[in-house]
Amino acid sequence: MSESCIFCRIVRGEIPSYKVYEDEKTLAFLDINPSAPGHTLIIPKAHECRVEDLSREDAEALFRALHGLVAGIQEAMDAPSSSIGINNGPESGQEVPHVHIHVIPRRRGDMGGIMQGLVSATGRPSDEDLRAIAERIREKVV
Ligand code: AMP
Ligand code: ZN
Repeated sequence: MSESCIFCRIVRGEIPSYKVYEDEKTLAFLDINPSAPGHTLIIPKAHECRVEDLSREDAEALFRALHGLVAGIQEAMDAPSSSIGINNGPESGQEVPHVHIHVIPRRRGDMGGIMQGLVSATGRPSDEDLRAIAERIREKVV
């Protein structure tokens, strides 16, 4: 755990998030600056900056969470596909130094997200929209 890390603060409930999934070792919530509606971040609860710093157990739990969530995220957003990626270290464009997997729902021809780098924001949606999207995803993944 890191005192100041924004994602650790989300794990501790000190900062609100639009949670879509949680288990003992992982948490998934909406990106507040999404590249596409339904853009979700999946994180280990353990504070590590890079994938290679994670324990094997946390790495396994993280991929298991991804495996369990991705179809539901796509279905909830009516998106046939998704871009899945990790900025691993500051030189890759990682802004939050706590491992996170981006899951970005994608449609043919949208030319968004990964085409311009892994994260290109489309602007912050309203709280109401984020709440509704999180609820739709939660319904699909429970
Ligand atoms: P990266 O550039 O890979 O480190 O991505 C960090 C992501 O975290 C960006 O897409 C941000 O929009 C997102 N982000 C930052 N703060 C928050 C927050 N409080 N809640 C949800 N997403 C956040
Ligand atoms: Zn952290």
